[in-house]
Amino acid sequence: MIRFTNTLSGQVEPFVPADPETVKLYTCGPTVYDFPHIGNWRAYVFEDLLKRFLIFSGYKVTHVMNLTDVDDKTIRGANAKGIGLEEYTRPFIKVFHKERNTLNILPADHYPRATEHIREMVDIIKILLEKGFAYRKDGSIYFAIAKFPAYGRLSRVNLEDLRPGSRGDADEYEKESVHDFALWKAPKADEPVWETEIGPGRPGWHIECSAMSSKYLGRTFDIHCGGVDNIFPHHENEIAQSEAANGVKFVNFWLHCHHLVVDGEKMAKSKGNFYTLGDILARSHDPLDVRFLLISTHYRKMLNFTFEALEQAKAARSRLGNFLGELKDVTQERATNPEIAGLIANARNGFIAGLEDDLNISESMAAIFSLIKSLNPLLSRGEVSRSDAQKVLDLFLSLDEVLAIKPSPIRSASGKIAALTGVSAKGEVGAVDNIQPSSVPNQLDSEIQEKIEARQKARAEKDFNLADEIRKELLRQGILLEDTKDGVRWKKIPPSQA
Ligand SMILES: [Zn+2]
Repeated sequence: MIRFTNTLSGQVEPFVPADPETVKLYTCGPTVYDFPHIGNWRAYVFEDLLKRFLIFSGYKVTHVMNLTDVDDKTIRGANAKGIGLEEYTRPFIKVFHKERNTLNILPADHYPRATEHIREMVDIIKILLEKGFAYRKDGSIYFAIAKFPAYGRLSRVNLEDLRPGSRGDADEYEKESVHDFALWKAPKADEPVWETEIGPGRPGWHIECSAMSSKYLGRTFDIHCGGVDNIFPHHENEIAQSEAANGVKFVNFWLHCHHLVVDGEKMAKSKGNFYTLGDILARSHDPLDVRFLLISTHYRKMLNFTFEALEQAKAARSRLGNFLGELKDVTQERATNPEIAGLIANARNGFIAGLEDDLNISESMAAIFSLIKSLNPLLSRGEVSRSDAQKVLDLFLSLDEVLAIKPSPIRSASGKIAALTGVSAKGEVGAVDNIQPSSVPNQLDSEIQEKIEARQKARAEKDFNLADEIRKELLRQGILLEDTKDGVRWKKIPPSQA
């Protein structure tokens, strides 16, 4: 029986989807105004672990993840560059999918964009106006939270401080300022405007998730995920809008993943501890070590990202790979050892029991490492037959459907073992091993050189934002820069890691 902690009740509850075959899952996607940072990826990797485990458990999963391509931040970014929203957000959407792939995150069934669902948002706002849950003020339309008595149930905000009629237009705000929020924002200079039945303007952030989730999953669906910072105001507002408009329960299970901090501190560009995935891969780390690190801490606990922890994840993943390599190496035919069949069954049951218990990954990984511990002496004494070794390999292949960390069965000493998981051995080793020395055609070299010089100039002028932009731009083209004491070196990396 699968159990999850439901933020709505604060309790661990048995999970049963409304349709016994298919789980309907909505996960809040990226606001495509910048590259996702490692904290964003923590949430997306957690959601992938959840989804993969549901599939492993026999469910079909219909998964929707929105792309927020119109909100305060995307508009600000596009205006700063003097370009349209579509042109501004396009490269960030591209990088999002590229990095998602690199982290072995399964694609969603739908990636609806806010700008392509204005009509659906307007339809909900119309109903909210008709039912008296929304009101107009100075060309904008607000949700009147005093009209919705269940407001605050998810986030447990204190409604006593609520001043009637206090309003806010910002898409994001603090728990201390509970107020009526904008569903539809009046036209402003420098903002995109849609001419609609409810008047000209543009949507607020929260209404998009209410509109796009119900379009693709129905008015009530099984699981809604996000980070804890989405609980208030975003998810609280989604519930208010959807339940007030539809008159039915919006979501049965709310699962929220805790924050990621770096070196024990909140990530901030000003502190120099702010990392995108690209920043980490540029230090020659393997994206699947990053994935392993991100799933290794229980989703409801704070994750402290450090490069030391990343090294530990790498070591654990390569221990796993070495072990699989040894199994792959077993050639001897001998009688099947019944003890091994028992160990395999225990490991499988322990792995499943862990994840069924609110995705307790530590328990699941302990089951795997305990199997390794028990098998190692048998392996070194040559007491494992080829067919038993294959059974253990099959178990790992099957469990890796959930973990998706592809531990590579490559032992550096011999390097003779073929890839296990269907991905070429080359694709599985660290980024540093994949770097091909300057194989970019010559005509491109001068262009790259020019960009490197532009970056050096920007750095000399202390324009670190521009310097970083250029570095990221080169990384998108598969060019990795390395600052050495002899100057800047560049290397081409495969597209999957750029
Ligand atoms: Zn959302």
